[in-house]
Amino acid sequence: MRTRFAPSPTGFLHLGSVRTALFSWLLARHYKGQFILRIEDTDQERSKPEYTQLILDGMKWLGLDWDEGPYYQSKRYDRYNEVINSLIIEDKAYYCNCTKERLTQMREDQIAQGQNTRYDGHCRDKKIPFTQECVVRLKLSLESSVGFEDLLHGIQDRDATMIDDWILRRSDGHPTYNFAVVVDDYDMNITHVVRGDDHLSNTPKQVSLYKLLNWPMPKFCHIPMILDEEGGRLSKRSGSANILGYREQGFLPEALLNAIVRLGWSHGDQELFNRQEMIDLFDFNGMQRSPACFNQEKFYWIARHTMQHISVETLVDKAIKEGFFKDTLQHAIAVVTLFKDRAKNFQEMIIQSDFLEHDPVLNAEAFINDYPSLTSALLQSFCDYLVTIEISKETFFNDLKIFATTHGLKIKEIALPLRIILTGTTESPDLGSVAYYLGKDKVINRIKSLKNSMK
Ligand code: GLU
Repeated sequence: MRTRFAPSPTGFLHLGSVRTALFSWLLARHYKGQFILRIEDTDQERSKPEYTQLILDGMKWLGLDWDEGPYYQSKRYDRYNEVINSLIIEDKAYYCNCTKERLTQMREDQIAQGQNTRYDGHCRDKKIPFTQECVVRLKLSLESSVGFEDLLHGIQDRDATMIDDWILRRSDGHPTYNFAVVVDDYDMNITHVVRGDDHLSNTPKQVSLYKLLNWPMPKFCHIPMILDEEGGRLSKRSGSANILGYREQGFLPEALLNAIVRLGWSHGDQELFNRQEMIDLFDFNGMQRSPACFNQEKFYWIARHTMQHISVETLVDKAIKEGFFKDTLQHAIAVVTLFKDRAKNFQEMIIQSDFLEHDPVLNAEAFINDYPSLTSALLQSFCDYLVTIEISKETFFNDLKIFATTHGLKIKEIALPLRIILTGTTESPDLGSVAYYLGKDKVINRIKSLKNSMK
C-alpha cells in the first residue's frame, strides 16, 4: 500500500485537507505501507511558498510523518514534457491553437443548442506543429470507457462521451492538475488514491489518460465532504477550519486527529481513539459515504478528555514547545496541574489560571451581603490560623474543617467564599491545590486585602 497526500499550496491546511491526509496516512500505517507527500504547486498565481511551509509545519505538528517527499510538481516539468512528447509522437495527444474567442463561441453555441459543453475536436486531426500559443490536448479514445471502481462509491460507469479532448498542458507551459496527478501517481507507484469526493468528476479524465498510456490504475477512494454544524460546506476560508488556529489556541494535535478521524469513518460507536488505536483499527470497512459533520462541542469534549489522559510532565513539555508558558517551569507545572482536568486547550488554562499571578478584583460590599458570617474579625482569626498551619494539597480541606468547626461554621460557609477570595470565581479546581500553588503569603494577603476593604 502506497498512499499520498497531494495538497496544493494555495491556502492553509484546513479540516478537510487534514482529513484527507489523515486517512491516507492511516491506511499506509495500518497496512505497513508508505505515505508520500507531494506539493502540487503548478498553479503559479495561487501557489505560495508560505503556504507550502504552513502545510509542512501543520503536518509535522499533527505527527503525520511521511516516508517520501515532499515532492514538488514544479520541479518535475521535464518529466511532464517527456510524457507529453511521447503522447504526441504516438498520436495520442495534439497541439491545439484554437483562440479564446473561438472556444467561447463554441461553448455559447453548444449551450444554445442544449448540448453539453465540450471541446469539438477542431484541431484533433490537423497535426498542428508546436508554437508558443498552443495547448496540448489529449486525443480521447471514444471507444474506451472511462469508468472506474471506487472503493467507497462502487462502480462508476462513465463513457468517454461525457468528457472531451481535455488539456494536458496550457499554452503557458504549465501542466494541468489532471495530467500531472496521473504522471505523479504512476511514477510514485501510488496504489490507493484517497481524496475528497469533489474530485469524483475529475477521475474519468484521469482514467482516460491511464488508458491511453497503458499504465496500471491505482485504486480510488473518494471520501465524503465535511459539513459544518449548519449543514453548510466547510470552507477553506472559514477561520474555524484553519488548523493553525487550533494550534495557536493550544489544542493537542492528538485531540484534533481524534475528532477528524470520525469525519467519514467509524468503529462501532467508539468516539475516543489514541494514535495507535486509530492505526490499528482504521481501514476501508469503517468508511462511510454520507457527508460528515464537524461538531465543535464534540471536539471540545474530545480535547478535554485527551488533556485528562496525558501526564502533567508531558503536557508541560508540549505546551512549552508550542510557546506557551514563557515564565518559570514551576508556574507551568502549577497551571497544568490545576487545569488539565478541566481545560480543552492551553490557552484556556492560562486564562483561567490568571488568579495565580493577579489578585482577583472583589466587590467587598456584595461579598459582605452574600457571606454575612465572614466578619472582619473572623477573617483576621482565619489569617492567624493559616499562619500556624502548613498549606498542603492533601490536608488543607481538613484544616479548613477544623477552623470552621471551632468557629461554629459549616465547611461550605468558609470554603465557598474562600474560593472566591482566592480565585475570583466559584468555579475553580480543588481548593487545597489552589491554596498550595498560590502559597501561604498570597492566600493570607488576599484575605487581608478583603478584610481591609471592609472597614
Ligand atoms: N492538489 C489536489 C488538491 O489539493 C489533489 C487532489 C488529489 O488528491 O488528487 O485538491
